[in-house]
Amino acid sequence: MRIARVEAIPVAYPEPNDHGATRHLCLVRITSDDGREGWGEAVTMWPEASRATAEIVRAMGELIVGRDPVDSAAIWQELRAHAWWYGMGGIASFAVAAIDIAVWDLKGKALDARVLDLLGGPVHDQMPAVASSHATHAEIPAMAEQIAGWLETGLRGVKVGFGKRGEANLGFDHDRDVAFMKAVREAIGPSHPIMIDLGVRVRWSVAEAVARVRAFEEYGLHWVEEPLGHDDPAGYATLRAKTTTLIAYGEREWNVDGVQKILDTGTVDVVGIDPGRLEGITGFTKACERIHAARRQANAHSWSSAIVLAASLAVTWSSPACRQFETKPLRNPMQHDLAEGAAVPVDGLWPQPQGAGLGIAVDHDVVDHYRLDR
Ligand SMILES: [Mg+2]
Repeated sequence: MRIARVEAIPVAYPEPNDHGATRHLCLVRITSDDGREGWGEAVTMWPEASRATAEIVRAMGELIVGRDPVDSAAIWQELRAHAWWYGMGGIASFAVAAIDIAVWDLKGKALDARVLDLLGGPVHDQMPAVASSHATHAEIPAMAEQIAGWLETGLRGVKVGFGKRGEANLGFDHDRDVAFMKAVREAIGPSHPIMIDLGVRVRWSVAEAVARVRAFEEYGLHWVEEPLGHDDPAGYATLRAKTTTLIAYGEREWNVDGVQKILDTGTVDVVGIDPGRLEGITGFTKACERIHAARRQANAHSWSSAIVLAASLAVTWSSPACRQFETKPLRNPMQHDLAEGAAVPVDGLWPQPQGAGLGIAVDHDVVDHYRLDR
């Protein structure tokens, strides 16, 4: 099998889990000389990032036409080497990420094997599914009820975004945030983990972060995500010294070097990674090896389409660093309509991905419907 064509397809879609906001992705379709397809995705978020990524993907695509997708490691290295002048990170990493995921999908189809098996096969007996979303209501009882509703399908925990769209206004008032945490704990019962994820609008001082986390610990906070943003090693060292809750960050890193940098601070317990940003399945897998070696946890930031979900789930099942896997609790077009065969949690557990490659069949009509520049 040879790579015949590489296409970049920016898409925009309304995300019910983000208060209906328009979100942008840059999909990549690689077609082989025997007519099969591999799909990849960059989690670009904004239209200009999607269009810029598409431009890089088109140029990088010309470099790999004629290549055998089985050579995924060499292709990944060559794309990174090509981008040496303009970026180890940023748009270049988005492009490498999307192409790499598509190459792996096609590689699996060429070898009639699951990506999961090409990565070494499953290392877990089961994979708990947890809800990850944003509270939107103004009143705390309504939010607690809303969040408990996310667990109706049997999901095993909740991650709640603070400082997000909607009327929730979480993250800005200590006493109200603690009352929220208490209400959620009471609404979902004692056993399910609660994770709190700080959005960029919330800017706690180190002292505020320490006070919040200590207060939340009374209600069993499992981890706090990006409480001090993505780059405050001294602040994180203080928070780490004064609290026992797991500290999560890392989803803004672009590559394995960035992951190693934060591991070396000794302040991160759970490293968030999106293969649609951190250089694809190859980048995510390499990062998981470092994270496991450091005896830390990796957590997929799977919050976009069925493509990144399938790629993330394959790595998650294959890596001992990963222990749970998130899902957006509200039905949404990119996760639920884009592809047939996408994994869905059953009774709060993720099945292993099935089928050659990523195991999904992308619906071209859905892609065309959400295409940015029609
Ligand atoms: Mg996050």
